[in-house]
Amino acid sequence: MPFRKFGLGAAILKAIQKAGYTRPTPVQAAAIPKVMLGNDVIAIAQTGTGKTAAFVLPMLHRLANPERQGQPRRIRALILAPTRELAAQIMENIRIYGQSLPIRVAAIYGGVDEASQIKVLYKGVHIVVATPGRLIDLIGRRTVDFSMLEMLVLDEADRMLHMGFLPDIVTIAAALPKRRQTLMFSATFPKEVESLARRFLYQPKMVQIGKRSNPADTVEQCVYEVPAHLKGAMLLELLRQPGFDRVLVFTRMKDGADRLTQFLKAARVNATKLHSSRSQEQRLLALQDFKDGKSQVLVATDIVARGIDIEGVTHVVNYDFPVNPEDYVHRIGRTGRAEAQGEAISFVPKQDLNLLGILELFIARRLPKKRLKGFDYHAPIPPYKPGEAAPRRDWRKRTRQIEARKKTGPAPEDPRKKRRGTRG
Ligand code: AMP
Repeated sequence: MPFRKFGLGAAILKAIQKAGYTRPTPVQAAAIPKVMLGNDVIAIAQTGTGKTAAFVLPMLHRLANPERQGQPRRIRALILAPTRELAAQIMENIRIYGQSLPIRVAAIYGGVDEASQIKVLYKGVHIVVATPGRLIDLIGRRTVDFSMLEMLVLDEADRMLHMGFLPDIVTIAAALPKRRQTLMFSATFPKEVESLARRFLYQPKMVQIGKRSNPADTVEQCVYEVPAHLKGAMLLELLRQPGFDRVLVFTRMKDGADRLTQFLKAARVNATKLHSSRSQEQRLLALQDFKDGKSQVLVATDIVARGIDIEGVTHVVNYDFPVNPEDYVHRIGRTGRAEAQGEAISFVPKQDLNLLGILELFIARRLPKKRLKGFDYHAPIPPYKPGEAAPRRDWRKRTRQIEARKKTGPAPEDPRKKRRGTRG
């Protein structure tokens, strides 16, 4: 089905053509007609399937339609997204698709100067793309007026719930008119998302692309069973192989991302990092360098990398195996976007084998195991060379021991010690 069959305005069709889209993706083909009819819609679509355009295109059509125009420059649509990066990216897409429309858009998120955002709102915008936290602040200070709002979009709903945004979403929804069109997009459809939909959507139409919770089909997946202390060396080895041109590497923690980036830089790999302790400017710069190909590797944590769209990511590497299977789906969705091919590689040290089992149950398939010579469990332990750094202490094990001790109380005294004590 070509785009023109949706009944979108000429300016929007022209922008789509300019963006190089020849036909709608499945989620667009399924969702756009339903949204155009004014229905509330829940769309369960894997990441990278073109879901942003699935809600932005009909939104622009609605806002550009003169018959429906309210007072000029009043907020008529609100899009809530979990992260600043995603909000910035959605705004970018709106600008691309609506380039010849007189529609103004503002992004409202934390980490940047509030005053400039308030100024933009004061001048008047039609669409607000926001993260819940900062928007709540502005609602509390009565700097936003949603009385003319017609459309609400909850993007990456499952992620927003995971990040604990439910109370914020409830507060924001209370500040919006009850008569509105609400759309909800989510990569997965757990019970919490279902109940969110029941709460905020009216007789929604459901659109589901592919199987629930299944990672994008275009992504080739595999795991390497590798001892934890060899993960860094193994990553370097992989990065030397041909084809590893734009590699997104995930770590669990921010300090892990810092350490790994440092390690890669020391090995002369062009690497940059993206996590929530970095300033907004640093985050945008890191993303831009990666998009422009200046950095071969972007090391990221889950929260910030969720939903971001980077063209041509050749590989996603789960350096730290994700604890949450849904994070796995999102991580690997960063490659193989919009019909491109991609590869997702996961490092699985012995202590994470149980997580691999849980993931395989979740995605209902076994992941093929690969081996790289010298980097698997079965490889002989290299002999100790004098002058080498001593192996690092396993502080996690020590912390676990201390925590266990706290729960069970002090260890019982050794009866043999007592006996010795009485004797001597
Ligand atoms: P999204 O899932 O919205 O983040 O989109 C993923 C990528 O797909 C983005 O880079 C879009 O520019 C691209 N895209 C969206 N719709 C289409 C389409 N109909 N044809 C080709 N690429 C598309």
